[in-house]
Amino acid sequence: MSIRNFQRFARSDTTAAAVLHRYRFAGGLARGPLPVARCPRCATPNAYGLADGRWRCGACRYTFGLYTETWLEACRLSPLTWLWVIKLFELELVAQQAGVQLGLSYPTILRAFTTIRRALLAAAEPTLFHADVEADESYFGPRRARRSRGDPKNGGRSTPHKIPVFGILERHGRVQVTVVRDCSAESLLRETLRTVKRGSLVYTDRWGGYDTLTFCGYRHLRVDHGKRFSRPSATGKVHINGLEGFWSYAKGKLLKHHGVSPRRFPLYLYEAQFRYNHRHEDLFDLLLKILVQPVPDL
Ligand SMILES: [Zn+2]
Repeated sequence: MSIRNFQRFARSDTTAAAVLHRYRFAGGLARGPLPVARCPRCATPNAYGLADGRWRCGACRYTFGLYTETWLEACRLSPLTWLWVIKLFELELVAQQAGVQLGLSYPTILRAFTTIRRALLAAAEPTLFHADVEADESYFGPRRARRSRGDPKNGGRSTPHKIPVFGILERHGRVQVTVVRDCSAESLLRETLRTVKRGSLVYTDRWGGYDTLTFCGYRHLRVDHGKRFSRPSATGKVHINGLEGFWSYAKGKLLKHHGVSPRRFPLYLYEAQFRYNHRHEDLFDLLLKILVQPVPDL
């Protein structure tokens, strides 16, 4: 949603609450009168309004508000402030900048942004890829991580200070990344088995860790990192440039946050995955749809 359109909905708390109401009870910005509030407990759509702005379910008598049991409930923000927080998150302001713009304390804005990231992580549905895919692993973390003095033949795959991430990318499509314990052959194979349908064609680099793929029912093509750019193959298909592109995309995004703790790292990684996979869509609309969902029991 463009800033211009956003302005129309963000005029006041009333217009902002109407937007959240429509997303929550009608799944988007449908026209017409406000949809009837649906009870989050029994899903009966015949709640009636109370004087304090909340509703009571006509069937089970449960009392609920606009945020009840959704992600929005995690922060005590007005509807208008929530819309702005989501908009500035969409525009990729870091929490500190967004807090300044909205006059919110750093803990408050950080809590709101973390809520959005947790919602994205919870909404990330694992998919089973079945087309041609690229598989690759990469390390995230401080730039000047200490180089391991181990076996030079392991090609820099032993970097204990960085976080190993495994990724699968569908050609011209979505990417799915996972933080893995290590980049051993077992880990990579386990992740491939989990994410890619057997029989699919998997492109990887030349690392031996991927050798077992053919024994597990995959068609497997290796890419020579050194020659990839200078000598394209006859078909022009043997490369893992798509995934390499995602790694630099994600690392660029993470750099803005000036060091993310390992504990929080998955949240930022999945945010990058979300932004990449939906890069041609209206992120504001998607974020709202996700945030008005019930928080899953963990
Ligand atoms: Zn009910």
